[in-house]
Order: sequence, then structure tokens, then C-alpha cells
Amino acid sequence: MSTTPARLGTVVVAGGSVAGLLSAAAVSRHADRVVVLERDFLPDTPAPRPGTPQAIHTHGLLPSGRFAMDALLPGFTDALVEAGAHADGDVGIVGRWWVGGGLVAECETGAGGVAVSRLLLEHTLRSRVAALPTVEIRTATDVARLTAHDGRVTGVVARDRDADPAERVIESDLVVDATGRAGRAHRWLPAIGATPPDEERIEIGIRYVTTHVKAVDGDVGDRMFVISAATPEVPRGAVAIRQEDATWTLTLFAYGDEPVPLDADGLRRAAENVVAAEVATLLDDREPLHDALAYRFPDCRRRAFERLRDLPFGYAAVGDAICSLDPTFGHGMSLAAMQAVALGRAVGSGGLDEVRARYPREAARIVDGAWTIVRGADLQLPGVVGTQTRADVLIGRYVRRLQRVARRDPVVAAALLRVTALVARPESLLAPHVAARVLASRGAR
Ligand SMILES: Cc1cc2nc3c(=O)[nH]c(=O)nc-3n(C[C@H](O)[C@H](O)[C@H](O)COP(=O)(O)OP(=O)(O)OC[C@H]3O[C@@H](n4cnc5c(N)ncnc54)[C@H](O)[C@@H]3O)c2cc1C
Repeated sequence: MSTTPARLGTVVVAGGSVAGLLSAAAVSRHADRVVVLERDFLPDTPAPRPGTPQAIHTHGLLPSGRFAMDALLPGFTDALVEAGAHADGDVGIVGRWWVGGGLVAECETGAGGVAVSRLLLEHTLRSRVAALPTVEIRTATDVARLTAHDGRVTGVVARDRDADPAERVIESDLVVDATGRAGRAHRWLPAIGATPPDEERIEIGIRYVTTHVKAVDGDVGDRMFVISAATPEVPRGAVAIRQEDATWTLTLFAYGDEPVPLDADGLRRAAENVVAAEVATLLDDREPLHDALAYRFPDCRRRAFERLRDLPFGYAAVGDAICSLDPTFGHGMSLAAMQAVALGRAVGSGGLDEVRARYPREAARIVDGAWTIVRGADLQLPGVVGTQTRADVLIGRYVRRLQRVARRDPVVAAALLRVTALVARPESLLAPHVAARVLASRGAR
């Protein structure tokens, strides 16, 4: 295959949600034209839409995602703050992290996230990307399949949903598949004679219930968020984030398909049943602003594009189309943002050759850390189905001990939170200055 020039003609992005928009921004400086094709009619306001049903549920933006989004779209966090988001302070100070059954010590991690609704984040992102001179966002346009010639993807076949239902071919040098966790690769690739990626799943059967309540001064010691992670003993949890409009978004969740009640009294009972007692205080003396909304998330899934030998030129997957993880960890948007940065770098440095040869491995490496964290934690929970290796058991034992030490040691706490926020790799928990403190601790077994 001949070497391709670093500057591309047309790039088609299939899917106009977080991963698609960020990828469009990433490649826009290396292409003459970027066309984002989104199946939904996209709203002009921060409103829900059918293609992203998860967007009404609590979404936190981790520091890793914030850095990546600001790198792709300078001033993005400022724009969110202007629209009402909160982005002040270190996640180790402004948040309360109940992990492994106890409260992690306050600590300096050197990293800050953003507290904002997913609807406002995506709306702001869409406005910023739509304003890029080479990007066009086509709404209500369904991508049906790829077109290919001689081992190379040459474009897509698309259908307008509102006007002419006839299929049209849109030619491109590169197709970015940002169609989300359902993914299209298992159909699109075989249809052009290529192999689809192997897929690994962990069945977690998680049930989400989300509501909003008015924020009151002094709530949770005026912190920005509370995370109450599930443990093997309490396979239920909560995430509450203070977002724009002086409200808390509050999600309660349970593993193993345990139902979570939707009515106000049931919510209160569920909130009292998580590790962090302070979660229930958000429902004291105030009514939820709306009926609770439910969501079921059956499994984590990961597709191994990096192992495909016949991955065609001119195709790249990004975001949930590669890996969709337990949402309670809040990794998804950040992974998508980091992958978009990697995709832009590959296009800019070596065009389609780099996109095929290097990008899938880089994208997999970005996912690896998060996959390790989630796998390690979820496989300990009752009702979660997946294969636990001997290494998983040993690592799990070490991490549980580390979590206990993190309740009183700010150095270990910062190491734990930096990994959780994806600004450090899981291996850093074995660094000598951390391991020595964990192993030396008494009573932390
Ligand atoms: C309940 C829940 C809570 C979560 N909480 C967090 C959190 O706190 N923090 C975090 O970072 N992440 C969180 N996530 C994960 C996050 O929502 C996803 O990782 C993120 O949305 C991935 O973006 P994406 O663009 O890859 O996919 P999606 O957001 O799913 O978007 C896919 C897009 O592709 C479009 N599409 C699909 N097929 C076609 C087609 N054929 N043609 C054209 N368009 C198409 C869809 O309409 C949609 O717009 C959560 C997920 C869930 C389920």
C-alpha cells in the first residue's frame, strides 16, 4: 500500500455525539472537509434525544477528559463554566470519594474535572465543533454501510431521514466510526470483506435511577460531588454532582439487576442503603424535581480493533464503538476525548498509514488502564459474570489494602484518585513510594 499524504481531502464521521464531535475537531486541521453524519434530529438547546438515552443520567467529566477536550478545542472548559458548569478545584479536595467501603482522605491530585450536565456539555461541544471552518454537521442522516475498493474504505452510503429517503454515496479518504456502544463494525466490516473485531464482555447487569434536587448551601460540606462506589458487601452505590442551575444530579445504582425503586420514598430508602450516609441527606427536606428515570446497562464491552490484520485503510473506530465501560466509573467521555487526540495525531503525522498502523494500538492502550480498573473492581461484585484470573485475585487483594490505607494517607489517596481519574496508569499504584506505604501499613489487611 502506498504512503498517503498527511493532509486528507474528505473525512466522514459516522455519529455526532461526544466521540464523533471530538474526532471531527481532531482531524479538522488535517483535512479539507469533515462531514459529521448523525442519525438523530439534533436539538438547538441542551435537550435529550433518542440516540443518546444515557445523556439524562449523571455524567462527570474527569480531569483526563477535560485536558483532552481543552487540547482539541482551546477554551472549552471556560465555555462550559460560562454556561454554568463548575470547574474549580482539585478532585481530591472538592469531591468526596467513598471507595472500597470508606472515605478516601482529602488530598492534592493536581487535577480538576468539570461538574456539568451531559446535555450542556454535548450542546456546548456541538456549537464549538459546528463553528470550525472545515466541519459540517448533517443531522437526521443515517449511515447505512461502508463503500470500499481494493482493501480501502472509500466512503459511506447514507440516507436522509427527513427528506429524500434514497441512499447516497459520500466519498471520503477516512471514515471515523463513532456510532456508540452498539457499534456497526460487526456488520460494516464483513460487508466489505474485512474481519470484524473480537469482542469481550463482562455482564454487570447494572440498574441506574436518576433524579435531580435543588442544591442548598452546606450540602455535603459544600463539596462539588459525592461518589459512593459499590463493594462486594454493598453492591449498590450513588453518584451525585452539583451542576449548573444550582441543582444536584443524583443517580442511585445497583449491580446484578437488583431493582432500584423510582418513587420518592423508595429513592430515599435506596439512598440510605449505599455506603456514604451523606447521599441520603440530599433527599432530606426536599422533593425530587421530577419522577426518577431508569436505565439498564447490561454489560461492559470491548472490541479488539488493534488485533485485526486486515483492518482496511481509511477506517477508524472511536469512543464507545471501541469500548463501553461500567458507567459508574465515569470514564467514557474521557476515553473518547483521549482517543480523538490520538486519532488527530495519527492523521497529522502520517495520514492513513498511521491511522491504520498506529492508531488502533494507541486507542487500545488508552482503554487498557480503564478496562483494568473496571474489570478488577466489577469482577469482585456478586452477580457480575466474567472470568477472574489468578492475577486479578492478587491485584484485587492489593487494591483493597491500598483503598484502606487511602482513608488516612493523602499520598496513597492521591495515587488512587489519579488512577481513577485516568491521569495516571494503574501500574503507578505499584510505584515504590506508594507500595511501601501500602505494605508498611498496619491493620490495613
Ligand atoms: C448511564 C450512563 C452514565 C454514564 N456516565 C458517564 C460519566 O459520568 N462520565 C463519562 O465520561 N461517561 C459516562 N458514560 C459513558 C458515556 O455516555 C459514553 O462513553 C459516551 O457517550 C460515548 O460517546 P460516543 O460518541 O462514543 O457514543 P454515543 O454517545 O452513544 O453516541 C453515538 C452516536 O452515534 C449515532 N449513531 C448511531 N448509529 C448511527 C448511524 N448508523 N448513522 C449515524 N449516526 C449514528 C447515535 O445517534 C449517537 O448520537 C455513561 C454512560 C451511561 C450509559
